[in-house]
Amino acid sequence: DIVVVGSLNIDFVVKVPRRPLPGETLTGYSFEVIPGGKGANQAVAASKLNGKVSMVGRIGDDVFSQVLRNSLLQAGVDIRGVKVTKGVSTGTAFITVDETGENTIIVIPGANKLCTPLDVDAVEEIISKAKVLLLQLEIPLETVCYAASMAHRYGATVILDPAPAQSLPQELYQLVDIITPNEREAETLTGYQVESLEKAELAALALIERGVKKAILKLGSRGGLLVTEEERFYAPAYQVNALDTTAAGDAFAGGLAVALAEGKDLKEAIIFANAVGALAVTRIGAQTSMPARGEVEEFITT
Ligand code: ADP
Repeated sequence: DIVVVGSLNIDFVVKVPRRPLPGETLTGYSFEVIPGGKGANQAVAASKLNGKVSMVGRIGDDVFSQVLRNSLLQAGVDIRGVKVTKGVSTGTAFITVDETGENTIIVIPGANKLCTPLDVDAVEEIISKAKVLLLQLEIPLETVCYAASMAHRYGATVILDPAPAQSLPQELYQLVDIITPNEREAETLTGYQVESLEKAELAALALIERGVKKAILKLGSRGGLLVTEEERFYAPAYQVNALDTTAAGDAFAGGLAVALAEGKDLKEAIIFANAVGALAVTRIGAQTSMPARGEVEEFITT
């Protein structure tokens, strides 16, 4: 089983010719409301790949919370661990995408900020049976550490997607089995500019030095690099026509978790995760872009 302790956000996506200047009113092209949040995205990704997934987090009691619940339920995610807080807004992200594909994002954490260690205690039973715990950094760091510690105690594989990047306590590094930064996050955490595989490896080794067992660097259109104390394995990306890279990393996380929960080894798991990430970038949106298991299998064999 896979447990995700993390954020749930509603993404408000506006397509614009360019961004307005202060005081300016601009007519945009389109508006969409898309269920997102790194935690919920990873839960949906893993569940659509046939993982048995539980989501733990907080939403508000506004109309948007229903969109998130529906998206998770439709993907088959167990949402008993998703608590509702009255009187606060569900987490939201206001996203503009311009004609060059460049985006800007404002995140309002809302209810995600209220996800506490008590919420993790409430699902101890579920975490005790988990094979894999997926964590990101859109809920309070204290809660992330607490969940990592509990899952570690029960012997689950703890995977941390260090996004959005921030400096992390030593204690957390030591509880993490696999850390999965993208290039920018690796740079923020280690100071190495990840512009080549060699630099990626140096960044990974720096993270291992802090106590994580394994590092998988997500290298966008270049794929993924696994570094452990003993080995180094590079899996190039699948070639696709990238339309929207939103949530590619979350798709990758879902793929990784499912493969590991099924007992695949890390190399196979990275190749599978690369395929999931590649398919996600061929589609628009966060949770709406996650591929089903059958699609991934077909993609890998063709
Ligand atoms: P994040 O979304 O966290 O920034 P990346 O951009 O590195 O992470 O993407 C995560 C994974 O998705 C990559 O490691 C790769 O497997 C896949 N991916 C991302 N962009 C592409 C692309 N243009 N072509 C093929 N695969 C991609």
